[in-house]
Amino acid sequence: MEIQILGAHAAEVKGARLASLLIDEVLTVDAGGLTSALSLPQQEKIKAVLLSHHHFDHTRDLVTLGANAGYWQGQIEVYGLRYTLDVIISCLLDGKMYINLLEYPNKEKPSLLLKAIEPYRKEVIAGYDVLPLPVKHSVPTVGYQISSPDGKSLFYTGDTGPGFVLAIGQHISPHLLISEVYGPNKFEDWLKSVGHMSAKLLKEELTQFKELKGYLPRVIAIHIGNPYEQQIEEEVAQVAKELGADISLGHEDMRVTL
Ligand SMILES: [Zn+2]
Ligand SMILES: [Zn+2]
Repeated sequence: MEIQILGAHAAEVKGARLASLLIDEVLTVDAGGLTSALSLPQQEKIKAVLLSHHHFDHTRDLVTLGANAGYWQGQIEVYGLRYTLDVIISCLLDGKMYINLLEYPNKEKPSLLLKAIEPYRKEVIAGYDVLPLPVKHSVPTVGYQISSPDGKSLFYTGDTGPGFVLAIGQHISPHLLISEVYGPNKFEDWLKSVGHMSAKLLKEELTQFKELKGYLPRVIAIHIGNPYEQQIEEEVAQVAKELGADISLGHEDMRVTL
């Protein structure tokens, strides 16, 4: 399983894209910084997109991806909670903002095929076992455990505040955990209130994970608040030292092989 981080930041600026991952060139998780990271032939290989939640920084490139798929007359499956799909249909895809991507290039075979997932219900998507699990964000959000046929697995939390390990830790055993650190420790109270993490909050989650599971996977943090990146990096490095674990910040175009 090769995981490519397409976007690792909370703000899109030159050199930084919004949250998006690509697995083995065919499965995408979140669509914040997707199309600007990939050539058209690379986009044509995408079979499915998993959405963690409806926030614009995780869904916006569905519009450009769906429009681009008209060039190769392809169809891309888009998975998310029913709630998530309803919001993106009415706010992004139904033709008010741009082309109606539910009927483009034609009604019979639209470029985006929306499919609702249920938390705790495992599905085979693009050849992977995918298990959506609810996490703690400001709107309904799921993380995904994605397991390849050769037994490697990743858990991506999406946007989450603290408490996800207690809630769903028993259901996951990933080789790699991709989570988020949006801001520095000094903003902990605010981060908690909006369903995001600091390095210190991540440390508490990882400590619980180790107690529960008896090990710590490699951890990569994304959704980095750009102006605070250096401070977040130092704070995450400190947590890595304290826990004796492999924890680092992700970056655009980073590749990890499991
Ligand atoms: Zn969010
Ligand atoms: Zn976000």
